[in-house]
Amino acid sequence: VPELPEVEVIRQALVPRVVQKKIADVQILEPRLTRRGGTPDKVAAGLRGWTVVALRRRGKFFLFDLDRDTLVVRLGMTGQLLWWDTEPGFQPDPHTHATLRFAGGGVLSYRDVRKFGEMFLLPTAEVESTLRIGLEPLDPTFTVQKLGEMCEGSRLRIKALLLNQRKIAGIGNIYADEALFRAGLRPTRRASTLRQEEIHALRRSIRSVLRAGIQHGGSSISDFRHPSGESGEFATLHRVYHRDGQRCVRCEATIRRIVLGQRGTHFCPSCQR
Ligand SMILES: [Zn+2]
Repeated sequence: VPELPEVEVIRQALVPRVVQKKIADVQILEPRLTRRGGTPDKVAAGLRGWTVVALRRRGKFFLFDLDRDTLVVRLGMTGQLLWWDTEPGFQPDPHTHATLRFAGGGVLSYRDVRKFGEMFLLPTAEVESTLRIGLEPLDPTFTVQKLGEMCEGSRLRIKALLLNQRKIAGIGNIYADEALFRAGLRPTRRASTLRQEEIHALRRSIRSVLRAGIQHGGSSISDFRHPSGESGEFATLHRVYHRDGQRCVRCEATIRRIVLGQRGTHFCPSCQR
């Protein structure tokens, strides 16, 4: 499942390809994709002829700013944004649900096996109020004080708080488990019990784990005609995620897996408290 780093890596790769390019033609074949914004025809008509002026990211959402409107794309579980420099190389398959062709060449397609992703238009001025996404963890606005306030006022377990997109944007199951390991915090801890130094450690580990994800994801999809929604090389750096039964890299205890809020949750029972 693509989380903040995967979306950011794809965004960075797409910027030089689509920004200041005019959308010449659009095909959207899957009605579920546009469910939040009307029919595929309506969304396609709202895209055709417009120029992408910026490509931003908020949490796990891509924001393609056009002139007045913004195309919002969320990959869901299995969505992929794929790019072809030229039409002859473009190979749609039965899971290719949308295709954007750019003036002067270049094809951007949206492919999604399980169809949980979304693609819809919003007036640019309404993006923030509609999506209601929390703080960007890599922005300077994500301060120790803000994180502390979130924890203090919460009845959630700390992992559930990290996954709440309205509080902090873009963290999913993998990066939550990895950040909590690096901070030495048990995923089941009540957020309100975190002490000041633990909040410091948590903020630091959230940021470092996301940055590492961006760095390592980037190297594995430099040619991103290949499937791009994967966690890339960062998977080799996982210290707890999907490592249950293996030794902790820090203390050699056995990594455990529990189910927390319906999500598989991985931690070291010895050094996460
Ligand atoms: Zn350990």
